Amino acid sequence: MQSASPNAARRTQNPQYDVCIVGSGAGGGMAAHALTAAGARVVMLEAGGAWYASKNSQMLTPAWATPRRGGSTRIRPFGEFDACDGGWDIEGEPYTVASGSQFRWWRARMLGGRTNHWGRISLRFGPDDFRGKTRDGLGDDWPISYEDVAPYYDRIDRLIGIFGSNEGLRNHPDGVFQPPPKPRCYELLVKKASDKLNVTCIPSRLSIITQPLPGRQACHYCGQCNRGCQAKANFSSPDVLIAPALATGRLRLLTNAMAREVGVGADGLATGVHYVDRTTGEDRFVRARIVVLAASALESTRILLNSRSAKFPQGLANSSGTLGKYITDTTGTDVSGFIPAMTDHIPHNHDGVGGLHVYMPWWLDNAKLDFPRGYHIEVWGGTGAPGAGFMGGIHRYPPGGGYGAQLKADYRKYYGATIGFSGRGEMIPNADSFCEIDPSVVDRFGIPVLRFHWKWADHELNQVKHMQETFRALVAELGGTVFSQMPTKAEGYDIARGGTIIHELGGARMGADASTSVLNANCQAHDCKNLFVADGAPFVSQADKNPTWTILALAWRTADYIAEQRKAGAL
Ligand SMILES: Cc1cc2nc3c(=O)[nH]c(=O)nc-3n(C[C@H](O)[C@H](O)[C@H](O)COP(=O)(O)OP(=O)(O)OC[C@H]3O[C@@H](n4cnc5c(N)ncnc54)[C@H](O)[C@@H]3O)c2cc1C
Ligand code: SF4
Repeated sequence: MQSASPNAARRTQNPQYDVCIVGSGAGGGMAAHALTAAGARVVMLEAGGAWYASKNSQMLTPAWATPRRGGSTRIRPFGEFDACDGGWDIEGEPYTVASGSQFRWWRARMLGGRTNHWGRISLRFGPDDFRGKTRDGLGDDWPISYEDVAPYYDRIDRLIGIFGSNEGLRNHPDGVFQPPPKPRCYELLVKKASDKLNVTCIPSRLSIITQPLPGRQACHYCGQCNRGCQAKANFSSPDVLIAPALATGRLRLLTNAMAREVGVGADGLATGVHYVDRTTGEDRFVRARIVVLAASALESTRILLNSRSAKFPQGLANSSGTLGKYITDTTGTDVSGFIPAMTDHIPHNHDGVGGLHVYMPWWLDNAKLDFPRGYHIEVWGGTGAPGAGFMGGIHRYPPGGGYGAQLKADYRKYYGATIGFSGRGEMIPNADSFCEIDPSVVDRFGIPVLRFHWKWADHELNQVKHMQETFRALVAELGGTVFSQMPTKAEGYDIARGGTIIHELGGARMGADASTSVLNANCQAHDCKNLFVADGAPFVSQADKNPTWTILALAWRTADYIAEQRKAGAL
C-alpha cells in the first residue's frame, strides 16, 4: 500500500496541524493533555464515538431495571452497563491467529478506549523492571531507568489522583498518594492469612480519588467503577484528560475516524494520517507536522506495518525488522474458594471502590525459585450488587442449591462467602510470540488485519504453577475449600490464554540500538524523526505491574520531548 495516496477518492483536510494523535485512551489522552497545554494545535483521530462517564455512565442503574439483568452483549462482553464499547469480537474487524497459537485481542472502540472500564490498579514499575537483562540475562534492558520516569509518575499521581500507602518497598515505589479506603471484612481475613504465610499484603493503589480534586468529587463508594463514574472520582481519559484539552481550544477531536496508515513524504518524514470516516466510509487524510500513534500497543503496530511505501516497503519505522516483535501479555491464573467464616454474616454495607482495597506485591527472591521475575496478587470477594449470573455454581457450596425456599436461604447464607485470588505476572518476550500482517484478510474498511503467533515458555508456566500453589495455601489458611483441582502441566497450570489479561505490550519497542528496536529512548522512531508512539507498544518488558500508569508517564514524557523539540525548531 503506497502512502502517497494513489486513491483519488481520498480527500485532504486542511489545515495542517502541529500534531496528529491517533487514539484517545490512556496514551492518546495524556499526550493531548500535555501537548495542548504546551501550546500545540492538535487533531485527534478516534475510531469510536464520543462518550463521557460524567454524562453517559449508567453508574447507578439497578440490574433488575432491564430485561437482560445487565447481562453481556456482543459490543459489551462485560455486561450491558459496563463502560467499554468493543470486546473480543468486533463486527467486520477481525484479526487472525496462526495455527498452533492461541491469542485473544480486546479492543475498545470509543472515546477514552479501555480507560472507561479498566480496573484502575495503578502501579509504578520499579527500578529492577527497567533492567531485567542486567539482573537475570533474559529479555532486554530499557534504554531509560526508573529515575527518568519517576518525575512523570509523580506528576500523574498529582494530576489524575491515586490512593495508596507509602511502604518503602524497594521495587514497588511509593507515590503521591491520597488516603486508601479501609479493608473490607473479607480483605481483613485475607490480610491475616497473608501475614501468617509471610506474603506481603498492603493497601491497593488505584487511580480513584478519596479526596476531591478541582472539578471532581471524592469517591462515594458505590462500587460501580467499571460502569464509569458520574462523579469523575475515578480516572477515565475523556473526563480527566480530553475535556481539559478541549477546553484549551487547541484540540480538534474527530470521532469515528479509523486510522489506516501514516502518510510519508519523499523526504521520509510523516506528513499526516490516512483514515476512514466510519459514518460515510470515505477515505480521508489529515495533515500534521508530527504524528503520535496511541491506538493501543498492537493497533499502533498494525498501523505502522500497514504504512508501506517505496521508501519503507516493510512498514514504517521497521528498518530493524523488529516491528511486531517482542509482544507480551501479563501471565494470569485464578483460584477461588468457599470460606465458611464468611457465611451467615450480619448484613452490612460491604461496598467500597469498584476494585480491591488490598493487594500483594511480589514478595519473594527468585534465586530460590524455578522461574524468573515475579507476580502480584489481586484479591476479590464480598457482596457486590447482584446481576445476571448471580451466585452461579451455588451447588458447589455444601449443601447449596435446590429450589424455592431452600435455594433462597442458600443464596442468603453463601452470598459473600467466596474469596478469590488472581495472579498477574511478568512474561519474558520470546521469538515465538509476535504479530504480522495477515497476507489475505482485510477488515470491513479494506485495512489488512493482524495475525498473531503466541507461545508461553517454561518461565511463565512455572510461575503460574507457583501462583496456583500459593493461592491454594491462602484458601487453606482462610479455613476454606478450593472449588477446582490443582491443574497439571499438560493443562498449562490453567494459565490464561495470551491476550486475555488485556495487558498486551510491545510491538514497537524502544532501545538505544536502531538495529534491534523501533523507537529511541523518547519513543521517537529511529527511522522517522517526526513519528512517535505513546501507548504500550514502546515497552521493552512487561514487569508484573499493570501497565497503564507507565503508559501515562511515558506518554507525558514523550509529549514534553516533542514540546521541547518544537521550541528548539528541531521538529
Ligand atoms: C477490563 C479491563 C481491566 C483493566 N484493568 C487494568 C488495571 O487495573 N490496571 C492497568 O494498568 N491496566 C488495566 N487494563 C489495561 C488498560 O485498560 C490499558 O493498558 C490502557 O487502557 C491502554 O491505553 P492505550 O491508550 O494504549 O489504549 P486504549 O485505552 O485501548 O485506547 C486506544 C484508543 O485508540 C482507539 N483506536 C484503536 N484503533 C484505532 C484506529 N485505527 N484509529 C483511530 N483510533 C483507534 C480506540 O478506540 C481507543 O479509544 C485493563 C483493561 C481492561 C479491558
Ligand atoms: S466506587 Fe467511587 S469512583 Fe467508583 S464509580 Fe462509585 S463513586 Fe465513582
